[in-house]
Amino acid sequence: MSFNLVAPRFMLVGGGAVAEVASVLQKFGLTRPLVVTDPFMVSSGLVRRCIDPLEAAGIKVTVFSDTVPEPTDTVVKAGVASLRQGDHDCLIGFGGGSPIDTAKAMTILAMGDAPMSAYKVPFQADAAKLPVIAIPTTAGTGSEATRFTVITDTARDEKMLISGLGALPLAAIVDYELTFTVPKRTTADTGVDSLTHALEAYVSRRANPFSDAQALAAMGLIGANLRTAFHEPRNAAAREAMMLGAMQAGIAFTNASVALVHGMSRPIGAHFHVPHGLSNAMLLPAVTRFGLASATARYAEASRRIGFAAASDDAETAAGKLADGLVALNAELGVPTPKEFGIDHAVWEGRLDLMAEQALASGSPANNPRVPDKAE
Ligand code: NAD
Repeated sequence: MSFNLVAPRFMLVGGGAVAEVASVLQKFGLTRPLVVTDPFMVSSGLVRRCIDPLEAAGIKVTVFSDTVPEPTDTVVKAGVASLRQGDHDCLIGFGGGSPIDTAKAMTILAMGDAPMSAYKVPFQADAAKLPVIAIPTTAGTGSEATRFTVITDTARDEKMLISGLGALPLAAIVDYELTFTVPKRTTADTGVDSLTHALEAYVSRRANPFSDAQALAAMGLIGANLRTAFHEPRNAAAREAMMLGAMQAGIAFTNASVALVHGMSRPIGAHFHVPHGLSNAMLLPAVTRFGLASATARYAEASRRIGFAAASDDAETAAGKLADGLVALNAELGVPTPKEFGIDHAVWEGRLDLMAEQALASGSPANNPRVPDKAE
């Protein structure tokens, strides 16, 4: 069996690492960045942690800050117009997964005049106009290390998965000190997102020895630290472990793919505007239970790594504790049900058919240990 391995060419990891951003650009001879970020990063001043060291090194910085959570094709198009106005040689995605994904999509879309939808899977988006340097401020998506970007097609209410080397950052700066200000709800949602990446990569039909090592390490870090980061936002050790875990989960799933949770999560996000990590969290316990019998040994090992099962538990017991543990984790993190989130049941029922079709079309469910049909 052969498999592909991808990761950014260079990653700088650690507290305070963002202060080195100018030297990261200089390694690659880059001098004219467009910083892609969101309005909160500007109003809160967090983006200055990236801009100040660049300006101190004599690098002129331009900022595009009109990104939105769960980015859309229209925002990416506006970003490309802004990119074409300047003489840039790279993009810096600074923020959560949304600004980073916007930067990735901009560099792919800037290749030509085709609409964003032309690049969704099964298209291989390997080409990109300019390199992206990713600087995450949430410990969740792992986008800094993945060959994916997720963009909503506003005309069709579809969250499109775009995959290829064009979306893989050239470099990433992974600085947990940027996550101290993440609100509790977002800490929970992004944390469960990273746990989902690690678990789905580990049970994926496309898992390989390299992705397994990253996924297991990530589950250990996230299992031991997510609750602490949620309850104690300024706990540096927990934030550091979560940031590393999210990054390793990203490396795991970019090389093994995600599975059924993500396949189903994208339509829920697109139709009902549920943040990505939260829709994953809503689905994770039930989808895990659905697959348990198809990969019991793998789910059991995941359960032990996360800390739900003991090393002495047999496989069936440990796997059962995984589904129960995920339910308890959701309760502790205050994850709402779709109804509690405010989703109208009748509207939900009316869209189930379309959502199931969209989930299956993304390809992710085919990686699940138990592959569902549309009715399931
Ligand atoms: P986000 O980027 O949408 O940010 C959520 C909110 O948190 C925003 O309001 C933002 O301003 C705020 N925020 C971010 N960092 C903060 C900080 N340090 N302090 C205070 N507030 C902060 O959330 P996300 O979960 O990181 O990203 C979600 C997006 O990532 C979705 O669109 C999802 O589809 C995508 N995603 C991409 C990949 C990939 O591989 N490319 C993987 C998973 C998810």
